[in-house]
Amino acid sequence: MDYLILVNKFEPIPPGWADNLKLRKAGGKLFEEKTAIALEKLLKEAKSDGIGIEVISGYRSDDYQQMLWEKEINRHMGCGMNYASAVAETGKTLALPGCSEHGTGLAADLGTSGADDIEPDFHKNAEGKWLSRKASKFGFILRYPRMKEHITGIDFEPWHYRYVGRRPAEIITESGICLEEFLHFYSNKYTLC
Ligand SMILES: [Zn+2]
Repeated sequence: MDYLILVNKFEPIPPGWADNLKLRKAGGKLFEEKTAIALEKLLKEAKSDGIGIEVISGYRSDDYQQMLWEKEINRHMGCGMNYASAVAETGKTLALPGCSEHGTGLAADLGTSGADDIEPDFHKNAEGKWLSRKASKFGFILRYPRMKEHITGIDFEPWHYRYVGRRPAEIITESGICLEEFLHFYSNKYTLC
């Protein structure tokens, strides 16, 4: 299992990934096994700090991502957008099927206790603040930070956390870099040129 796998619109999930995926529940949603165990520990510590975190979304199959993609395009077109603009707008917050981190089982959308959908202001809440301080200790990073949109290709998403393992998560968080930059600076496997 490659916990540093890069998945974005240019790097789809490799074929066969889902076949090797062992899923396990955490917070009522499915995740890759080690990710689920780390998330359970995170949720437990949050609770003991008086912080209630809701797990809104975990592993999503390609079919499910396809459904979300089409639904969001239809929603924008229903507001009067043409197809090309609707696709562009949808692409800002939703990954194409096969290109979503949720397909890896390593990503979690998190929210305040009782939330049933993502919250754009999550980073301003006690729960979001707690996560930005503590997530790396459990191996998670804020995957789409502010000011890194030009690198990640995704708007700031305060709710989307990604498991990469503890040491990489600490380096990424402490250095204020994103996963793409980490892979560029710390791994010779990936280059940006
Ligand atoms: Zn997400």
